[in-house]
Amino acid sequence: MLFACKATLISPVSFEEFSVRKDHCIVVRDGIIETVAAKLPEEYKDIPVRDYGDALLIPAFSDLHIHAPQYVQRGVGMDKLLFDWLNDYTFPQEAGFRDITYARAVYPQLIRDMLKHGTFHAAFFTTIHYDACDLFYRMLGESGMYAYTGKINMDSNSPDYYVEDPEESIAETERFLAEHDGLYGEHVRSILIPRFAPTCSEKLLKGLGELAGKYDVGVHTHVVESKAEAAWSRELFPQYASDSDIYEQCGLLQGKGPKIFAHVIFPTKDDERVLKKYNCVSVHCPISTNNITAGIMAVKKMQNEGFRIALGSDVGGGHRFGIYDVMANAVQSSKLRAFYLDDDSRLSLANTFYLATAAGGNVFAENIGKLEKGYRFNALVLDGLQDEGHELTPVETLERFCYCGDDRNITARYLDGKEIDPEEIYTRLKRL
Ligand SMILES: [Zn+2]
Repeated sequence: MLFACKATLISPVSFEEFSVRKDHCIVVRDGIIETVAAKLPEEYKDIPVRDYGDALLIPAFSDLHIHAPQYVQRGVGMDKLLFDWLNDYTFPQEAGFRDITYARAVYPQLIRDMLKHGTFHAAFFTTIHYDACDLFYRMLGESGMYAYTGKINMDSNSPDYYVEDPEESIAETERFLAEHDGLYGEHVRSILIPRFAPTCSEKLLKGLGELAGKYDVGVHTHVVESKAEAAWSRELFPQYASDSDIYEQCGLLQGKGPKIFAHVIFPTKDDERVLKKYNCVSVHCPISTNNITAGIMAVKKMQNEGFRIALGSDVGGGHRFGIYDVMANAVQSSKLRAFYLDDDSRLSLANTFYLATAAGGNVFAENIGKLEKGYRFNALVLDGLQDEGHELTPVETLERFCYCGDDRNITARYLDGKEIDPEEIYTRLKRL
């Protein structure tokens, strides 16, 4: 399929900079951007052109850390701290996914809402239940999203109604990897998901480490999420040098897949050694870490020191799906950090836009996250953000979307070059 879109394009260039191209054309062939030009080149004069006028066209967002089963508890229990929130709300709720009919009701809504809010690429946490995780995997495949998902592992320090036997957990995870390998090509891929070090025994982690090597998969977990979590981890695993070292020594970082570490708020020197060595993605989830009072990641410092960073909603610790909301909150949180530490932590809109699009997209494929030749046309049209009698520049319009907009301002969504309708996808997912 060959067509063109005309709009004002905003695309990330680097952590510091984005490009703004007013009234430009973007030519898409079979889902890939073929040309970006101020005027439609002569050779394309007969192809259909979708003219979006003054609207913005931006790359779709990537969410590198979201808990799929916590969809139904978003915005609930937000006055608790992490461990109370887990025990009072999260664990009892997640345990409900042992019933496949619950998963069948919840997951289509989650996927629909993510697509509505412009997130087309995501790394998911799930639950320990094989059947619900399998159903979710197939729903993601059907939706066309790009995703990393799998089955959670937890065999320690968890309530007795929501805990696994380590040998069974390893066996079920291996079965999951074997049965899902290659089902949806590069769209949906498996990843290991040990919940976090305190909820996993060394035996379980070492078993998962063997699977990382055997199946060449990556890992997605929480690392130095809060001072309390990191201290507990050190107490339970005194023979390891850091939170990250546990995953390295247990073999979990040996596969080719991405190593996605949520939060990384207080990395030690040894954590930093591991992050660099394996090019791990540290996921900044400011809405969530504000809710659980975990702290504010040193995003700018880590970025400047060459660490790889992306953004995450961390729903339900976070209460907003839109990565554009996370961008706004990342700027707000960085200003608070700068205020209290009297340093240069402050992030710009360009900084957070880069993390939300190019940096996050790159975890899924090298050509995701920009509106440039050779990139996949995964893009959003933004409209309805201007006032009467006062004109915003394109960058101001993007900023207004992040601070004041919502899914109603996303007036068209292109995934692999096809315009998608989240409600239609929801209807299809309900039938799976
Ligand atoms: Zn999380």
